[in-house]
Amino acid sequence: MANILSTDIKYLPGVGPKRAELLGKELGIFTFGDLLYYFPYKHIDRSRIYRIAELNEDLPYVQVVGRIVNIAEVGVGRNRRLTAILSDGSGRLELVWFKGVSWMTKWLKTNVDYLVFGKANRFGSGLNIAHPEMEEFVRGKDNIVGALQPAYSTTEKLKSSRVTSRTILGLQQELAKQVNGKIIETLPPYLIEQHKLMTLSEALRNIHFPQTVTLLHKAELRLKFEELFYIQLGILFRQKVRLSRVNGHVFSKVGEMFHRFYNEKLPFPLTNAQKRVIKEIRNDIGSGKQMNRLLQGDVGSGKTLVALMSMLIAIDNGFQACIMAPTEILANQHYDSITEMLGDLPVSVGLLTGSTRKSERNTLHQSLEAGELNILIGTHALLEDVVKFNNLGLVVIDEQHRFGVAQRAKLWEKNTNPPHVLVMSATPIPRTLAMTLYGDLEVSVIDELPPGRKPIKTLHYTDVKRNVVFGLIRDQISAGRQVYVVYPLIKESEKMENLKDLQDGYESIVRAFPPPEYVTVVVHGQMKPEDKDFSMNLFAKGKANIMVATTVIEVGVNVPNATVMVIESAERFGLAQMHQLRGRVGRGSDESYCVLVSSVKLGNESRKKLQIMSATNDGFRIAEEDLKLRGPGDIEGTVQSGLPFDLKLANLSTDSQLLQHVRAVAGKILDNDPELVNPVNSLLVERLKELQSQQRDFSRIS
Ligand code: ADP
Ligand code: MG
Repeated sequence: MANILSTDIKYLPGVGPKRAELLGKELGIFTFGDLLYYFPYKHIDRSRIYRIAELNEDLPYVQVVGRIVNIAEVGVGRNRRLTAILSDGSGRLELVWFKGVSWMTKWLKTNVDYLVFGKANRFGSGLNIAHPEMEEFVRGKDNIVGALQPAYSTTEKLKSSRVTSRTILGLQQELAKQVNGKIIETLPPYLIEQHKLMTLSEALRNIHFPQTVTLLHKAELRLKFEELFYIQLGILFRQKVRLSRVNGHVFSKVGEMFHRFYNEKLPFPLTNAQKRVIKEIRNDIGSGKQMNRLLQGDVGSGKTLVALMSMLIAIDNGFQACIMAPTEILANQHYDSITEMLGDLPVSVGLLTGSTRKSERNTLHQSLEAGELNILIGTHALLEDVVKFNNLGLVVIDEQHRFGVAQRAKLWEKNTNPPHVLVMSATPIPRTLAMTLYGDLEVSVIDELPPGRKPIKTLHYTDVKRNVVFGLIRDQISAGRQVYVVYPLIKESEKMENLKDLQDGYESIVRAFPPPEYVTVVVHGQMKPEDKDFSMNLFAKGKANIMVATTVIEVGVNVPNATVMVIESAERFGLAQMHQLRGRVGRGSDESYCVLVSSVKLGNESRKKLQIMSATNDGFRIAEEDLKLRGPGDIEGTVQSGLPFDLKLANLSTDSQLLQHVRAVAGKILDNDPELVNPVNSLLVERLKELQSQQRDFSRIS
């Protein structure tokens, strides 16, 4: 039986071929099902009509009935607008239009009653409603569709073709009639019963046309439950399959290298968080299961050391290990700090990046394949097929979000039996997002910074106060400290990045801090690697006072003497990115500053971002706020990998409890029926297959 939901939308009465094309192009609605799942963005309480005298700006959307007593066109050019005064006997309300002025002028009549709907705002001493929804009000005839009227988003194009929210509402009413009794349930009856959910058919009716707010909420709950449930069931199912198919290398002992490092070389005591995480990793790699673990910890929390000690356990058990970093600078830095920490311990460490010379490369390849090399550190260069390990047991991926899924998967294949995988991220990912995006990964968290760090002071100035910022820079430099100034890049196309802001900024810095008294270097992504290294080195060695840069310094630079991070046009950066940048300072024992410079005029979201940055240094809180502000698709750290699905209703920020609940529900089902062969679960298997075929590839994160 064909599912009625796959019927072409053009066959819905009221649509036809022309509108069908428009709906497809503008809203992605091609079938009955697409329209049915095109949910209202809000419901409007149309059960009451306000008197104008009762209105104030704190009320939500309201409706009033009245007559137009005056119409006037005012202003010219961009300020041209139409105003109309509405009166209902209790008071007067101004209505105003900035667009469609000529059309409204023709349409508005003064001798009829209008039902006017909109949000009243304070304007001077009175109230007004901009671009209200209006229709003629005929007494006796019911203008009101239902207590809670759905509102649907439309586009400019649709509106100009007379497809308004109201039109879509009409189509939904027609559709509801057509599909009545023909909706096929997508959750097994036992789940619906156990969790007291609405049936799919009830939920779809009530998400559009609820009689009460309670019913609307029940409909939402049912649909969110389903959405999150299938994602979690899929993740947990794949995880079970992976664990049953892949045997982990067993690192049964903690041996000589680990102990010698711990007793002779460790430069400082481990923090409690580091100890706990190392224990978690040891449990995994000793268990016979293949480890797939995400290590989250704020910048400077000491992840490298955890990685090193885990690698030493691999070596103690006769295996090789590697670290892959996203940039050459970062790989070099890992190499330097790891070889320094190891000192004279007999562990051989190699470095392989794009700049490794050919002759060196060949030697590296050989000793790697012969098993003489214990640890290989590098960039993407590690992924090349010519790089063959003798017995790779542990892979560490630093700043994992910078690698695509395919790249990460490649490292799995460097041993016939996949190595253990530890991915590290300094971009804290909210728990709910981690459970969804990296649901197949175990998560460890370092939630403690090494002792002795002073919290970074974050200050916000608008760009008219630049002289204050320059004053701070001057003071810090004369105290012997160093300063970063970071500019955003304007992406003009995929490849080209515009450096104009950076160049202008550099010039103004050099004007304020002229050589030879001050030395300023520039670093950006389009420089030749050797020029970049030269500048970086000048700064790292303390021979330059100021580094003007783009976000290339976001990861990788470690200069404890730098105490000021100035972020220019801060409103153009994401929260997570600013937090990363801030982490470049505060690495020594001196008081450090992060200075956010923005324009004076700020949108709400920008203002909120800068407030959050000033209010907290806690990366996890920032990540949560980022999720709230921008939604999961835009979160730093997920942009590249992308969410493998779109959430229609559920919200990873506000529905975290529901998410944990459905994850537990899915887990329990799999505990009882790991392969989902019980006939009561056959619908689950069917749905998983169906949904998976719609998903972006996501099968092997890490
Ligand atoms: P991240 O987590 O950002 O990768 P790193 O591993 O680079 O952090 O560590 C940041 C700095 O903290 C390094 O200089 C490192 O030597 C130092 N560090 C790491 N662990 C400790 C500790 N337990 N006590 C003191 N300093 C530590
Ligand atoms: Mg690091």
